[in-house]
Amino acid sequence: MFPDDKVDIPFCERIFCNRTLNMKSIKAVGFDMDYTLALYKPETFEKLAYEETLKKLVDIGYSKEILNWEFDHKYMIRGLVIDKIRGNVLKMDRHRYVKVAFHGFKELNREERRKLYDVENVIIYEEPNFALIDTLFSLAEAFLFIQLVDYKDKTEKLLNKTYLEIYNDVRKCIDLCHRDGSIKYKVSENPGKYITKDKNLVSILKDLKASGRKIFIVTNSLWDYTNVVMNYICGNSKKELNFEWISYFDLVITGSQKPSFFNSKNQIYSVDLKTCYLKNIDLINLSKNENNEPKVFQGGHFKLLYDILGIKVGSEILYIGDHIYGDILRSKKEIGWRTMLVIEELEKEISAIQNSKDQYTLCDSLNKKRVHLENEFERLQIAEHENKIKKGIDKDETLDKKIKKVGYDLLKIKELEKKEIRTYHLGLHPIWGELMKTGRQNSRFAAQVETYACLYTSKLTNLIHYGPHKNFRAVRDFMPHDLDD
Ligand code: IMP
Ligand code: MG
Repeated sequence: MFPDDKVDIPFCERIFCNRTLNMKSIKAVGFDMDYTLALYKPETFEKLAYEETLKKLVDIGYSKEILNWEFDHKYMIRGLVIDKIRGNVLKMDRHRYVKVAFHGFKELNREERRKLYDVENVIIYEEPNFALIDTLFSLAEAFLFIQLVDYKDKTEKLLNKTYLEIYNDVRKCIDLCHRDGSIKYKVSENPGKYITKDKNLVSILKDLKASGRKIFIVTNSLWDYTNVVMNYICGNSKKELNFEWISYFDLVITGSQKPSFFNSKNQIYSVDLKTCYLKNIDLINLSKNENNEPKVFQGGHFKLLYDILGIKVGSEILYIGDHIYGDILRSKKEIGWRTMLVIEELEKEISAIQNSKDQYTLCDSLNKKRVHLENEFERLQIAEHENKIKKGIDKDETLDKKIKKVGYDLLKIKELEKKEIRTYHLGLHPIWGELMKTGRQNSRFAAQVETYACLYTSKLTNLIHYGPHKNFRAVRDFMPHDLDD
């Protein structure tokens, strides 16, 4: 028996459903590793990435004084957009209307924002001039960028560099940290310092396998690092690594190069578990999948995965990942996989929203009052106009007084509403506000989640609350005309 009834499941541990998904039609469940199977501790892991990047920046000529800088792991949130040219970081709604913008640590006011990002300047917020902060890996990079923008503006340093060049330096250095072992070596030495263990992980993997599904990993991490991390999170706390964790999976693909894994034929190697070396492989024997041994590879592409696991169409696969673009959008859009997005931040956000219910209700009632006053003001202005044009009355003192009064009330309530909405948002995050909303609209990030993630939840081990054949049903869609006032 599984406690399938929603009533028993803490709200912040529920799996939320955008698109109905019946687990009975799922033949294989796949997992991304970093920030999905393995949850990193931002206060140590992102700090490590940040500090290693500072060192690399010094290596390419930045002043040594930056080595004393500190990382604030709570400052940035996902879903923001970096304007590399202007040195700004933006939060926008689902219509790409920029509602919050910072230049370095200085917030831009409404006029400054509108001048740069007015909806009339049709801006495509994409590479090469913009970068999306769409994984938790990018938080350190974004924070370091605004620190450097601030530093350039306030000191005589970095005069010879544009904001774009600074961004490119940060990107290059952080990329190198991920690839040259600066980060991975330290994590491998002491995984417990950087990774959170979840006691339910192994039993979820076992339950899913016992339910008759194929279980696989597709991760961009390379084999040696994957082996260290999976050993740790699957419970092997000994210094010597073993391969017990592999037995929970039917297939492990490391170094997958997502998102190109979903559309290109990348080179594939098998991992020889006796020597841990990579070997060239015979693809013909591979697809026969004669012995039922778990298989471990580096590289490859989705068609090989289908061959090995006996998958016919993408919709037979549920893939669980944390990267809205690399894991979710591309796998769903290109090959029709069903998807579940892990949004770690959701747990805290949900409890903050619950604590801010009164503030939300206040904003809502102010909004209703404002709309009422706006209508009233418009009606009075029309009456004044008609007096002049149709009746030839030039001055109606009673009407004048009313217009002034309503105009004043409207101004006040607009200010108050703005202030209270801001208070509401800053209660959720002191800089950027609610992750999933911008003002009263869904944020750009929320819109992507809604479009591309069939399911979303705060951590994959929330699956413990649901049976393996659960029929996840989407909530009813709402359009403005569906809502009662
Ligand atoms: P996954 O989430 O399991 O697919 O793995 C993500 C991998 O990408 C991890 O090994 C990260 O270290 C790596 N990674 C994250 N950001 C960067 C980057 O900027 N450059 C290179 N590798 C990165
Ligand atoms: Mg990941």
